Amino acid sequence: MNIWGSVVRKGYGSGMAFRSPIMLAGAFLVLAVAYLAHFNIAVRISDDAALARFDALMKIGAPGRAAVHGERALAMMKREGVSPEGAARLKAALGKAHIQHQDFERGAELLSAALATDWARKLDSRQRILLEDKLARSSIHADDMSAALSIYATFLDRAGDAASTAEAENASPLEAFYAGRVADAATLFAETLNHAGGAPGVAGAIEARLTAAEEMASLGAFFAMRDDGQYAAAGLLSAAHDIRRAILGGDHQDTVRLTLILGPVYSDMGRLGDAEKLYLEAFHAQEDAKGANSPDLSLYIKLLSGVYEQQGRMTEAQALNEHMRGLFRDAFGAQRYAANQARDRRKDVNRPVSQYFLLEADYAPGDLVSAAQYSIPVSKAPTIDEMKVRLAADPDADPRENNMPARLAQLISLCRSESGERISLRSGYRSYATQRGLFERIGYKGTVVPPGMSEHQTGLAVDIDVNGRFMRQNDKSYQCFEENAFRFGFILSYPPGNDYLPGESSFEPWHWRYVGVRTARLYREAGPHYKPQEFLAALPCYQEQAAAGVFPTVGQPDNCLNQITTAAADADAAAQPGGEDAGTARILNTQLRGRT
Ligand SMILES: [Zn+2]
Repeated sequence: MNIWGSVVRKGYGSGMAFRSPIMLAGAFLVLAVAYLAHFNIAVRISDDAALARFDALMKIGAPGRAAVHGERALAMMKREGVSPEGAARLKAALGKAHIQHQDFERGAELLSAALATDWARKLDSRQRILLEDKLARSSIHADDMSAALSIYATFLDRAGDAASTAEAENASPLEAFYAGRVADAATLFAETLNHAGGAPGVAGAIEARLTAAEEMASLGAFFAMRDDGQYAAAGLLSAAHDIRRAILGGDHQDTVRLTLILGPVYSDMGRLGDAEKLYLEAFHAQEDAKGANSPDLSLYIKLLSGVYEQQGRMTEAQALNEHMRGLFRDAFGAQRYAANQARDRRKDVNRPVSQYFLLEADYAPGDLVSAAQYSIPVSKAPTIDEMKVRLAADPDADPRENNMPARLAQLISLCRSESGERISLRSGYRSYATQRGLFERIGYKGTVVPPGMSEHQTGLAVDIDVNGRFMRQNDKSYQCFEENAFRFGFILSYPPGNDYLPGESSFEPWHWRYVGVRTARLYREAGPHYKPQEFLAALPCYQEQAAAGVFPTVGQPDNCLNQITTAAADADAAAQPGGEDAGTARILNTQLRGRT
């Protein structure tokens, strides 16, 4: 700049012969052409020079021009057959240049090529994760939602414990890093999906779109658990809902189930009209599928009435609540509790488990499913074992008793809307080996029991998380579980004062266990309260009483409990004299050992 400036000033200031500006421009042109020619020759004959140019332009923040030179260098490298490693490194850098220059399609193409090489496999984990994250982000911009979804779904898997919202106690730094990348993507998902309307960028075969919907649902559920994730959750879940509705139909159970997560997100955001629409649609789908008198409708009625209350439509809310109570009365008043001992034994859903009723090391249920697939909000990566529960399905059974995860999703959704608290699954299935590992690490402190004594090994027990920690007795959601869990087949396994687990206090307000709707109902109405294990052990007797309609009323002796404890005490006394301090459950165990 100075050179040209001083020449011009000299020309005018010294009184010398006037030089035509055209001549000056001409000189400039010659120099420039010479320079460019030299440069072009250099970059044409040397990829090193092209690379240097690329680097230099990137440094001064000119990614568009850098990309031109980078592409040239890449083409030359290909012709010359350079090392795949060198090419991969350039592709990664060039991909970033294109992305900075807003050419997301080419950027994504190059990054994904680079990531598929040996070079990428040898990268430091964090560097590779950052590249994958960049690829996912540019895929979203390039309208390739499926690619982004599958990357973040993998991240979520690898995030393990760290995916839980608040404290990730056992997480490794790398797990936390994965979780952080997914969390950071929330804004981008929110922006993209909220503007797109419907499900954007998910093309392809039906199978592929359903997979994308599955991934959207699981990421959406993850964001729904975060304070700052509502917009992303709403976008992802509604897109998943749209896809499923288009392919499977609005009345398909997979479509309806999403309502249980998406509805509360809408309510939280104040999108009450959307929540109302969603609940109504689910209600009608359930009505068509299960009949107008099905107690299954009650959940959707309850959710709907919650929305009306929020909107101040009290008369409508009250009418719905009345209707709901009627449904329950009819369903449970009329049909009572046919004895179903054989079936439940086969399903193992009413098997007692405690320090007196041990499970074998090789006991493992064969029908574990991912809770997230049933729209249960999970607090950890959805694919780990701990986020699985038993399906507990029986084709011969009453459909209301069939399906543990569907029941749990409904219960959580109901209590979430009643309490306004964030409820999720904190721990479901734990194998014998996992329990042993936990116990060895943590011991009796806290909430861990020795292997074989834990109901978690059955896949029927769940620890409930409220706002990022274990559910507590004074949580509103605990009150809701107390009042409603039995309607969904769950009972509180470790009530105050029980001696089912070793240690000081065995009261666990967060630990709920599935026993089936009829059994839970029977326990609620006729069982010895706060003795769930004894109740399960003596279940056939309670079932007989129920069938005959002879429940003991308050103050009367409980014959089932008395019979079984007396018989067991006799057997126990005969077997080991002096064992008078044995607890009831222990006595029961002695008696039942031959049978279970
Ligand atoms: Zn538990």
